Amino acid sequence: MALIHKNDIVEMEITGMTAQGAGVGHWEGFAVFTPLTAPGDKARIRIVKTAKTYAFGRLEELLSPSPDRIEPDCPCFAQCGGCCYRHISYASELKIKEARVRDALERIGGFQGLPIRPILGADSRDGYRNKALLPLGTDRNGELTMGFYAVNSHRIVDCPYCRLQPEIFNQAMEAFREWAKAYGDPIYDESSHSGRMRRLYLRQGEITGQVMACVVVNGNGLHHEAELVEAFKKAVPNLSSVVINSNRERTNVALGQKCRTIYGKDYIEDTLCGLRFQLSPLSFYQVNRTQAERLYGLASHYAGLTGSELLLDLYCGTGTIGLSMADKAQRLLGVEIIPEAVENARQNAEKNGIHNAEFFCGDAGKAAQMLADRGELPDVIILDPPRKGCSAQLIHTVAEFHPKRVVYVSCDPATLARDLKLFAELGYPPVEASPVDMFPATSHVETVCLLSKT
Ligand code: SAH
Repeated sequence: MALIHKNDIVEMEITGMTAQGAGVGHWEGFAVFTPLTAPGDKARIRIVKTAKTYAFGRLEELLSPSPDRIEPDCPCFAQCGGCCYRHISYASELKIKEARVRDALERIGGFQGLPIRPILGADSRDGYRNKALLPLGTDRNGELTMGFYAVNSHRIVDCPYCRLQPEIFNQAMEAFREWAKAYGDPIYDESSHSGRMRRLYLRQGEITGQVMACVVVNGNGLHHEAELVEAFKKAVPNLSSVVINSNRERTNVALGQKCRTIYGKDYIEDTLCGLRFQLSPLSFYQVNRTQAERLYGLASHYAGLTGSELLLDLYCGTGTIGLSMADKAQRLLGVEIIPEAVENARQNAEKNGIHNAEFFCGDAGKAAQMLADRGELPDVIILDPPRKGCSAQLIHTVAEFHPKRVVYVSCDPATLARDLKLFAELGYPPVEASPVDMFPATSHVETVCLLSKT
């Protein structure tokens, strides 16, 4: 194998994409990963970093563009780490995401020939995010910067207008900027763990329109909170809640545990699958509501409830998936680790007149074991873990319940495939998978998978 060095310029065709959305080409046996390229491009690539069998490149010159290319419609694209697919058509983005799910299931899971439904695309690539967690920083002139981190870095790319979020967030950001100029406390600095204002956190109930604005502070509060509330009120007609979140930890974790409402309610509400949901600042809520309804529709189809089942919803957040199908089950049990989310789930059940649901706060693995010890025998189990997937111990516990079906909702095809392999060994092979595009223009893809007892 020829050697590849930093600063070499190589010509290649891009033939695939990495999970992070960089183009993949090959040169003399080396896989070369180059951001902002697209499958079908022929390009001159400058090597910027090398490892034993692969290298990272930078696009030097596009010799012949891929037919999938389009003109990116955002000036921050290429700098900001949010979107990675604004330079190719949505149809080709969907193709790439579907292939990624298939590839993970085949290569990591070993499931050749598993039926995979065509990916469920979104109606719009824009305006779908109902939540933004914007890091704050300062530029060379000491001016506030606010936006998104550049890829693989903690450098903030100032992004005054983001296409992924609703228009009202851009207005709230502008109002915050103006307020900060006049009244703001010092911006937090990660390296010295000094300064106060860390992030601006915005959330909107898409259907209700209710907006929550939250400032994450290294401390307990801000010096001009009343003026901040006035600034948000002026910019956001449907403002429901202004919150201060305290995060004094030296950490990358965005939110601290303590919230203090300085205006309006402690939560906002939204409507999903015909039900009304309360969402506290610390509770998880699907960022793309419209696609979440489709995702839950598939999950419900796979759950195949007839009215007589005990349904267990593990990693339930505010209870949304389980509650959306509680009318088709005899009883619903939900498990979630964030106390505020469990509180929301209980209130959500009550507000929607759902009386056959019970929610537990704790680690999914431990709670599942506790339910097993209590003699509960769920017929259908829903799993919706974070990106790292499920622990082997949890998978064993789930299999030992001997449910009829397991519905696995996953935001990472690689950990899904790994977990499905263990499930298959324990008598629960996958029957069918459905990719869903919950996060258009970004590298993420969601999958719902039905596993059935052999
Ligand atoms: N099913 C919900 C939430 C999915 S996100 C929905 O569709 O809205 C994953 C959830 O798992 C989050 O709410 C997170 O707080 C929770 N979680 C993370 N680790 C957990 C663990 N070890 N045990 C239980 N819940 C966990």
